[in-house]
Amino acid sequence: MAQATFEEISASDFFYRNRDIAGLTNPSRAIFVAIREVVENSLDAAESQKIPPDIYVRLSYEGEATKETQIYKLRVQDNGSGIQPKFIPSAFGQVLYGSKYKLKQMRGTFGLGGKMAVLYGQVTTHKPAIVTSSTGQAKIYTFTLMIDIQRNRPIILDRKVLINKDNWHGTIVEFNLEGDYLRAMPKIIEYFKQTAMVNPYANLTFVDPKGRLYKFTRATTAMPDPPTETLPHPYGVDVELLQRLIQITSSTNMSSFLRGHFHRVGEITAQKFLEFAGIPPSKNPKKLTHEEIVKLMQNLKKFKDFLPPDANCLSPLGEELLKAGIMKELKPEYLVVHQRKPSTYAGHPFIVEMAIAYGGDIPKTGNFVIYRFANKIPLLYDEASDVAYKVISSMNWRRYKVASDMPIAIVIHVCSTKVPYKTVGKEFIADRPEVRKEEANALREVSRQLQHFLSRKEHVHMEKKRLSIFSKYLPKIAQFSAMLAGKEKAPDIEKLLKSVQKYGAEES
Ligand code: ADP
Ligand code: MG
Repeated sequence: MAQATFEEISASDFFYRNRDIAGLTNPSRAIFVAIREVVENSLDAAESQKIPPDIYVRLSYEGEATKETQIYKLRVQDNGSGIQPKFIPSAFGQVLYGSKYKLKQMRGTFGLGGKMAVLYGQVTTHKPAIVTSSTGQAKIYTFTLMIDIQRNRPIILDRKVLINKDNWHGTIVEFNLEGDYLRAMPKIIEYFKQTAMVNPYANLTFVDPKGRLYKFTRATTAMPDPPTETLPHPYGVDVELLQRLIQITSSTNMSSFLRGHFHRVGEITAQKFLEFAGIPPSKNPKKLTHEEIVKLMQNLKKFKDFLPPDANCLSPLGEELLKAGIMKELKPEYLVVHQRKPSTYAGHPFIVEMAIAYGGDIPKTGNFVIYRFANKIPLLYDEASDVAYKVISSMNWRRYKVASDMPIAIVIHVCSTKVPYKTVGKEFIADRPEVRKEEANALREVSRQLQHFLSRKEHVHMEKKRLSIFSKYLPKIAQFSAMLAGKEKAPDIEKLLKSVQKYGAEES
């Protein structure tokens, strides 16, 4: 019998072999995902400093076209934080390397997105990526890089240093990739439009390969506060995490260990919990056996009196900004926005923001237009698999006097330190009961208000109809009654008509 041969592959090699995990399935999807990942990094880099983002994206033709695919050059420039030169090569040339493995809301989560785009570009065009960046200090650095896929390490082909005369801060990423822009175009434009909606403080410019310019101008410079990093919540920990914390802790007793490493655990809560778990407060955490750690984890999940996580680690848009974004992109006749209080699933805090818009630029498609966002990222694929779709389709809309052929858009934003995506491709949110409940409650709230608006609108409509009948017949009635009364001139009806019309106008 032939012997099996065993080998180990690196993280980049794994993602090189399994590109579709990150959504790079075909030339059309790949170009969309590449743009999205690089733009998201730029948005994160500007928002983390509370700088209103200015992002310039250019996609241009490069080389000869074949029938289905074409080589493009993608260039994305931002005015964000910039990256220190010592981190640039790995940030763009080493898969699973990043600055966002933190407990706070960010778009990036895996240390993967931007690099997958660069890696895809490299394997489809065999050209390096060029990254230029400055943190606003004296110098600007430009690296020409490739990824050593087998070793998962960056290869630096060239490094240039320029004097930063204007204190510029930001990053420019440039690389070639294979794709099919013409097929991807509708999704890409939709991506920018929705990104503008959920980031109303950003200026986004996109120049496509045909030289067409798409410009989304900010409606405000107000921005949500950046999230602050948090500690793990006791309901969300597992044995691995406990072991790591025990390894690094300088606490010599359980009470200070719990207070120092877990979110919202104070003196009293620690005391109550240790009593509940039957652990002496003075016990040294480093002395816990493996069995005791497993038991500790189980008790952490069972204990009912931990405080819910607070939401400082989240950065929702807030009602005002969400309103500004939707007004800007959809210009609706009516808009209602609602933000739920923070909630949690499996120890992860999350907030649901919901809006319903009616009329304006919203098309009548026979169905509601659904806009889904997670941590301010538009989700454009697999709508029917998203928990929001289930929530919307299981609502009893007749109760709210809403019909699907009305020009209605529903906007859902879920933000969390850990969005429960079903796939690495970040396209739809899993059906977690806690998330579903929050979305349903938010939707009921905005629907109630929409119902008021619709019935007011209906009332005004009826009133207008009544007035138009009234104004049609009133002159005739006036004439007729003048005749009956034997008067020569009919009474002046203008005044009367005006006063009724005024009443109608006030109502609408
Ligand atoms: P992720 O965003 O999930 O961390 P990426 O591969 O997209 O993974 O990016 C890796 C890291 O590179 C980020 O964590 C960030 O620190 C840095 N980075 C990427 N793009 C930018 C940018 N435009 N500005 C500043 N830092 C960036
Ligand atoms: Mg990223």
